[in-house]
Amino acid sequence: MNVCVFCGSNPGAHDDYANAARELAAALVRDGSSLVYGGGSVGLMGILADEVLRLGGRVTGVIPRTLWEREVGHRSLTELHIVETMHQRKRLMADLSDAFIALPGGLGTLEEIFEIWTWAQLGMHEKPVGFLDVRGYYAPLLTFLDRAVEERFVREEIRRIAIVESQPEALLRRFTEYRPPAVAKWIDREET
Ligand code: AMP
Repeated sequence: MNVCVFCGSNPGAHDDYANAARELAAALVRDGSSLVYGGGSVGLMGILADEVLRLGGRVTGVIPRTLWEREVGHRSLTELHIVETMHQRKRLMADLSDAFIALPGGLGTLEEIFEIWTWAQLGMHEKPVGFLDVRGYYAPLLTFLDRAVEERFVREEIRRIAIVESQPEALLRRFTEYRPPAVAKWIDREET
């Protein structure tokens, strides 16, 4: 599997986050899966990519030209795509990947995993979406989403798309058992 991981361009306030990124890297390599990520070498992004490479795994980075300096583009990836826009980055990362994981991160991470989740809601893909919940970082967000279900702004089966685990291996295992909900398939206008 090609697994896309969204994660912080910062390392976070506790070593647990970096340790989780390394554990996820090890689980991916053990699994024979490749990493697709944002192509930077800062924060959890860099820690994750470095560890996959150190363990002999494959890493594909997708980075917009204008972010190359700010996110210190990683120079020793297996494969690197330099794109022009943020939207191209997200589109390509999505197309290259069979599953998506959010490690802890900030606004960029949230925006990216939520967009992928909403694409599943629209039937644009049927790939699994997971959160690696380190130190209970995502618990308040997921509680909020339960509230969104209670208040009938999010459908129960859409809420259930998100797979939440605190251990990388458990998350990858659940990906293999994932059954997407039945939603109307999105048809791009250009394809019709
Ligand atoms: P952050 O979680 O804010 O540290 O950002 C993590 C990654 O998300 C970085 O590679 C950011 O460049 C990226 N990012 C931030 N905003 C967006 C966006 N609107 N679309 C795609 N990626 C983004």
